[in-house]
Amino acid sequence: MSDWIDQVEPLTLKGQIKIPCNWSVGEVGSRFLVSLRDDQKIIGNRCGQCKTVYVPPRMNCGKCFKRINDWVDLSPEGIVEAFTVVRFAYPLQPAEPPYAFALIKLDGAHVGFLHIIKEDLDRLKKGVRVRARFAEKRTGHIKDIEEFTIV
Ligand SMILES: [Zn+2]
Repeated sequence: MSDWIDQVEPLTLKGQIKIPCNWSVGEVGSRFLVSLRDDQKIIGNRCGQCKTVYVPPRMNCGKCFKRINDWVDLSPEGIVEAFTVVRFAYPLQPAEPPYAFALIKLDGAHVGFLHIIKEDLDRLKKGVRVRARFAEKRTGHIKDIEEFTIV
């Protein structure tokens, strides 16, 4: 006796499913984004054990896994540690090319903060000083910082 599945040609259909969704950024992410939105202020947090300052803030330290409870105000300025310039358009980009993704070490932080730089790309280099420029209309999103500009 054979199973009916052995007698059926397996077919596949191509398609796409669009699934709009919202997800919580959690208590730490919410505090960070509310600070951007309401105060135009970049905040991070400091591990009580190893003193590493994170931005964006984290629930737990990535080095010693301790819960982080100390909040710190960070400077809107920092140094570009690395960058890549995007010159080609593709879907869902944060800006019209050309622009740069830059890893920025904000003053007072120990980790890089990933954001974009849209202007003066010819002056962009490792070690250049940049400053956050906030959007006029802020919604509680990472793009409440519109970009970083070279100081
Ligand atoms: Zn730590």
